[in-house]
Amino acid sequence: MSKTRIHELAKQLNINSKELMEKLNEFGIEAHSHMSTLSDEDAELIMEYYTSEDTTSEDTSDDIAVVYIGDSITVKELAEKLDMSGTELVKSLMKKGIMAGINQSIDFDTAVKIGEDFDIIIEKEPEKDIMEETFKDEPDNEEDLVERPPVVVVMGHVDHGKTSLLDSIRHSSVTSTEAGGITQHIGAYTVQIDGKPITFLDTPGHEAFTAMRMRGAQVTDIAILVVAADDGVMPQTIEAINHAKAAGVEIIVAINKIDKEAANPDRVKQELVEYGLLAEDWGGETICVPVSAVKKTGIDQLLEMIILTAEMKELKANPNKKARGVIIEAQLDKGRGPVATVLVQSGTLKVGDPIVAGSAYGKIRAMTDDKGRRVKKAGPSTPVEILGLSEVPSAGDGFYVAESDKQARQVAESIIAKNRMDMIKSTPQKVSLDDLFTQIQSGNVKELNIVVKADVHGSVEAVKQSLERLSNDEVRVRIIHGGVGAITESDVMLASASNAIIIGFNVRPEPAAKTFADEEKVDLRLYRVIYNAIEDVSNAMKGMLDPVFEEKVIGHAEVRQLFKASGVGTIAGSYVLDGKFVRNCKVRVTREGEKIYEGELESLKRFKDDVKEVNAGYECGLVMKKFNDLKELDIVEAYIMVEVPR
Ligand code: GDP
Ligand code: MG
Repeated sequence: MSKTRIHELAKQLNINSKELMEKLNEFGIEAHSHMSTLSDEDAELIMEYYTSEDTTSEDTSDDIAVVYIGDSITVKELAEKLDMSGTELVKSLMKKGIMAGINQSIDFDTAVKIGEDFDIIIEKEPEKDIMEETFKDEPDNEEDLVERPPVVVVMGHVDHGKTSLLDSIRHSSVTSTEAGGITQHIGAYTVQIDGKPITFLDTPGHEAFTAMRMRGAQVTDIAILVVAADDGVMPQTIEAINHAKAAGVEIIVAINKIDKEAANPDRVKQELVEYGLLAEDWGGETICVPVSAVKKTGIDQLLEMIILTAEMKELKANPNKKARGVIIEAQLDKGRGPVATVLVQSGTLKVGDPIVAGSAYGKIRAMTDDKGRRVKKAGPSTPVEILGLSEVPSAGDGFYVAESDKQARQVAESIIAKNRMDMIKSTPQKVSLDDLFTQIQSGNVKELNIVVKADVHGSVEAVKQSLERLSNDEVRVRIIHGGVGAITESDVMLASASNAIIIGFNVRPEPAAKTFADEEKVDLRLYRVIYNAIEDVSNAMKGMLDPVFEEKVIGHAEVRQLFKASGVGTIAGSYVLDGKFVRNCKVRVTREGEKIYEGELESLKRFKDDVKEVNAGYECGLVMKKFNDLKELDIVEAYIMVEVPR
């Protein structure tokens, strides 16, 4: 299958990627990011739309020019791009109070402002993907395309039978002659159903799936959603649905464990309705197949449905060119060096091919298929294990066949260099509530994606509805996932892959999830009151997020002696144990470890005078606001509220 990336197409059509993505959505074509790829058909459809519109409204297309630049540009280069003289541009810059010589650089934002003056839209040059640049995928001719097997992933709640189902599928296709050959286990395998192959990714669970998507790899065509008939839709079922939907993957439901007495397939179907999956036999479009992975019933029917769905999707690829595909999994083998399971997506991969995958490269020394047999070549949708890479690539990395060993090495080296640069340049910008308004204004955000986690189902629903109601003309608030329970790594992955923020109610992130969110720069916010979350999101959309204050403990004191003063109340003669006390700080009083008061310090005294601060090792008089019930040996903790940078 040849692929066109959205930003490439946008460039070709001379429109911006965002506009194109909106148009695609109008056409019902999934478009998640400017790096997403389009099928030939979709690309053609949209090309047709734009080119035919051009003829009807010829003059409008000429009015506005779009110029692409990088993070910065010299005045001279920009002048050339804007088709004006250098001095003219220097003058316009001066008018804006920017003194820049012809050879000096100006930043992107300044260039945009200049562009506005001349009715020219300046956009960031889409970052060049070294791989895509080097290994340009020419569109295939229709006659070169042949049918390819569908690539299927199995997802669902824990213990609903993903592993069992994959096992029984694998065995159902094993003929007696092959029976010994399936001991070899690689991360994906192909089964033959009536002579039709289906490729399964043997990575149950959506983590692997989302991890790949996060790296931009669109690997699967169909997701089998396993739901146990005796258990019904569970949190991970919902997650799986949302992950599959977000990736635009077709869902087939396998209602498993129908052999069990408590099995209730209708209840499963009923529950699925709520998540937008209406069973075919109930007038919907979702194929639901009752199966028992253990008793091996319904497996054939499930496989048939996969074949049918695949046929509807008309999955094709050109086998007669250099291969490209995706790393499914990889590890270091003591004896054999880096070993990678790869899925060929187009072309044919051969032993001896020089390949590159991220910073790993090498000549393919040997290839093994999913049955453990040595093979010399592998076509589209075929998984194989390869040996010969210089290092262990990452799952989800694309692999490409190079012209020569030398080219493979050079590309890998430039990837290494780029990775180093990227590390320095910090992680890509993600949406956060703090800069949401700026991003809305600059047109970067049209949709605010949110993942909601809460302690109870009722809250999830309540939050979902209230947040979605905040949508306005500029931004659509979209809850891409809502679930009950702690915030998990999987939530963060989904948020990161979908550029979403995470909102938690009375739940906390798992420690690993918190670390992961920090790494991925995912904005993760925790609330106890629904209203506060709604207010924050709503304020963020208006660019009015209030600063956040955090408590900072500044000192402790022990009450040593009590005085009564008329008109003042009780003065606690105290000794500052550590830190210091300052005027107008807040205090917390504890007696034998139990908190008895929290409030404001009304006055801070040294002898009879009010003072600004008293340091550790000194005595002082403390008066609490509206609290006189102090005793000797009470401990007073002083704290202040400091604004934390968001
Ligand atoms: P996974 O966590 O989704 O991979 O689920 P497993 O495949 O490990 O299955 C979990 C448990 O459910 C195991 O004890 C399986 O034997 C059982 N199980 C799986 N499929 C079926 C089925 O069709 N019928 C019955 N009765 N049990 C099943
Ligand atoms: Mg399992």
